[in-house]
Amino acid sequence: MKYTFQCSQGHDPETMEVEAMNDDEAMEKLLPMAKEHLAAKHSEMASMSDEDVKNMIMGGWKKEEASGETGVM
Ligand SMILES: [Zn+2]
Repeated sequence: MKYTFQCSQGHDPETMEVEAMNDDEAMEKLLPMAKEHLAAKHSEMASMSDEDVKNMIMGGWKKEEASGETGVM
């Protein structure tokens, strides 16, 4: 499964993308990327707790089946 999280608050849209088997794995990979992004682009949000960042990610991420589960015989 492909997980993408796009942030476009105050800058050109930037998409973080990871491959993961489930939400937990995706979060493990996205969290450090998101925190890095916050530190780089949103210094005012860089002090958010992990929990807050997770909530932000879960509020906006998109999940995409890598291939085949829909409509393929
Ligand atoms: Zn951003």
